[in-house]
Amino acid sequence: MGDRLIRATAADGGIRAVGAITTRLTDEARVRHHLSYVATAALGRTMTAGLLLSANMKRAEARVNLRFQGDGPLGTVMVDAGCDGTVRGYVSHPAVELPPNAKGKLDVGGAIGRGYLYAVRDLGYGYPYSSTTEIVSGEVAEDITHYLANSEQTPSALSLGVFVEPEGVTAAGGLLIQVMPQANLDDSAVSLLESRIAAMQGFTPLLRSGKSLPEILQDLLGDLGLEIFPDVQMVRFHCGCTHDRMLRALKLLGEEELRDMIEKDGGAEAVCHFCNSVYRTDESGLEQLIAQMQQDAVASS
Ligand SMILES: [Zn+2]
Repeated sequence: MGDRLIRATAADGGIRAVGAITTRLTDEARVRHHLSYVATAALGRTMTAGLLLSANMKRAEARVNLRFQGDGPLGTVMVDAGCDGTVRGYVSHPAVELPPNAKGKLDVGGAIGRGYLYAVRDLGYGYPYSSTTEIVSGEVAEDITHYLANSEQTPSALSLGVFVEPEGVTAAGGLLIQVMPQANLDDSAVSLLESRIAAMQGFTPLLRSGKSLPEILQDLLGDLGLEIFPDVQMVRFHCGCTHDRMLRALKLLGEEELRDMIEKDGGAEAVCHFCNSVYRTDESGLEQLIAQMQQDAVASS
């Protein structure tokens, strides 16, 4: 089954739920960036969280950026996700591997470490909202929940999971349940949801047991007037980088630097952080770029 995202409400709109299966896109990130097991889990959880958060935004161009800046060996974990179902991301040190934690699970918390989570929400109107919260555990779901409670004042329960086997990612996904601020639901509703999510014992075991997203939501919210929206959204790893954009970025280096590249390397190579695509341009490409820059300079003077 392909990667997908579904939305639902319960309690007459007082509860909003989003669920996603992200197995393929997490595996694509693993292959593109040559990620270790723990790096796959860290990036896969964060990419899934980004998709779940952007799913509640209204405009197709709305995006969410999540950046974990911890003191763990992975370095930065960066994700850019959109309401259009696309997501991309990277970690600074993709080869880092750690022994399993005390629970026998991939030690994502140890790999990310402690520090700050920077979140930027661009609703699509050109005024992004950014906020910074402390990393609570580095396990991602807990940190995002903390961010949502503090910065957005939205009580939320979030479950994220990535299951990696030697042949690749065999299950990944997540579930976000939020209690709307205007809903007349008290704290007990939130703790009820939290306890139910905790009782699920993780998202990936359910997926691996063959349960579908609607079945998982039914188990959690079936007795609270669950309504699943009929449209299923496909989600995928996608980066908007192009050869043209890379050339535009090269222009910023200035003529002198480009001449230097022609002389020393006979061309230039640039790698996109987000998707690891390599773009090359040869001597004549750089010469053309310099000619363009000179024309631009004349035109603007
Ligand atoms: Zn790219």
